[in-house]
Amino acid sequence: MNRTDPVTERVLIAGAGPVGLVAAANLVRHGIPVTVFEGGANLSTESRASTFHPPTLDMLADLDVARPLIAQGLIAPKFQYRNRRDGLIAQFDFGDIADQTRHPFRLQCEQSKLTRIICDKLRGDPNFEIAFSTPIRAVTQDSDSVTVTVERDGKSETHSYRWLIGADGARSDVRRSLDIEFEGFTWPDRYLVVSTPFDFHGVIPGLTTVSYVADPVRWHFLLQTSTLWRVMFRIAAEESDELALSAEFVEALMAEIVPGIDRYEVAHTTLYRVHQRVAKTFRRRRAFLIGDAAHVNNPLGGMGMNGGIHDAMNLTERLAEVWRGNKPESELDRFDQQRRLVTKEYVERQSIQNKRNLEAADNEFRDLLQRTAADPALTRDYLLRVSMIGSLRRAELLG
Ligand SMILES: Cc1cc2nc3c(=O)[nH]c(=O)nc-3n(C[C@H](O)[C@H](O)[C@H](O)COP(=O)(O)OP(=O)(O)OC[C@H]3O[C@@H](n4cnc5c(N)ncnc54)[C@H](O)[C@@H]3O)c2cc1C
Repeated sequence: MNRTDPVTERVLIAGAGPVGLVAAANLVRHGIPVTVFEGGANLSTESRASTFHPPTLDMLADLDVARPLIAQGLIAPKFQYRNRRDGLIAQFDFGDIADQTRHPFRLQCEQSKLTRIICDKLRGDPNFEIAFSTPIRAVTQDSDSVTVTVERDGKSETHSYRWLIGADGARSDVRRSLDIEFEGFTWPDRYLVVSTPFDFHGVIPGLTTVSYVADPVRWHFLLQTSTLWRVMFRIAAEESDELALSAEFVEALMAEIVPGIDRYEVAHTTLYRVHQRVAKTFRRRRAFLIGDAAHVNNPLGGMGMNGGIHDAMNLTERLAEVWRGNKPESELDRFDQQRRLVTKEYVERQSIQNKRNLEAADNEFRDLLQRTAADPALTRDYLLRVSMIGSLRRAELLG
């Protein structure tokens, strides 16, 4: 490659989603200059992740953004599993692992609140710059720089940086341009999220802020946020998108939640196709993939954004050391080794298992949950796994 323009002495981040902005915040905290190129005209307002796990909150506290996030969300120390026949099957309390985290709870809060909090905090810092409506379209590299082609005001521009972090989401242009395979599959069923202001606490005694309802045909889960409840249903492959989004169908689904209640105010509905994919590598020389650009999974267990934030922290801690000359560039291979392995071993496996458990036809899952909830050692192991503390420990052990 012939590079003609000078190399800008900053780390370039593609994408101002939650993962890209956490990466930016941690680099800026370490005094490393960062530029973010965001394809959209503004930060996204899309309603997607709403669950932050305990170790993610610990990381966000280190970035000094956990407090304002918690102030805008709902603290959920407990979560439960139910089924239609027995009602409550088992309940778990993150208080049982309070010695392992500074935040022994899940936080229910929309990811769009985190991106705004981080952007507001970083704005004005000379080490932070962000350009909107600037999608990265192509990436090339040589031994000491990465050159990106971006679109801006209808024109193509090229810019060179020392390092590139691709946090540009599931359809990542960075990943495509680096020619990294996105291995995995797409589930034949889809997920429908129905948001409603209805107060489920008033009609389901003992309901917690996060509750999963197992059922072989129509499992669903109920998640409360500070303004609405989100109910997520499985939509079978044979049910068309048009049917799934029709008012009658949504009404019939909602009517199955609580016997005797068949009318709900619906604030909005969104239908998602769900993928289970992991990039073949998270590093190609001077370019990295993190977050959805590196891996996507079904949302059961709320691991996508959380895992992406863990990627961002793992990578940027190492990159800061390499930038300052304290560690060799080979240090960055450990990011790929650790994060790719735990994504395969934990995030992918656990999210697939969560889906299978909820739709299991026999009572095996119910019995397992009840045995787990009755045994303090099993409960602790289980909570360490679902909170993702287990995956972070495993990454550390890989060295
Ligand atoms: C219904 C649903 C519920 C979910 N719930 C949870 C949950 O509770 N917990 C959880 O952990 N995860 C959850 N997830 C997953 C979570 O939303 C994603 O994992 C998360 O958004 C990934 O963040 P990201 O920053 O990697 O990517 P994104 O949020 O997709 O952000 C990527 C950014 O890059 C920008 N971009 C795209 N292309 C370019 C380009 N070429 N150049 C520059 N910028 C570009 C985009 O505009 C966007 O701003 C859920 C997902 C869905 C669909």
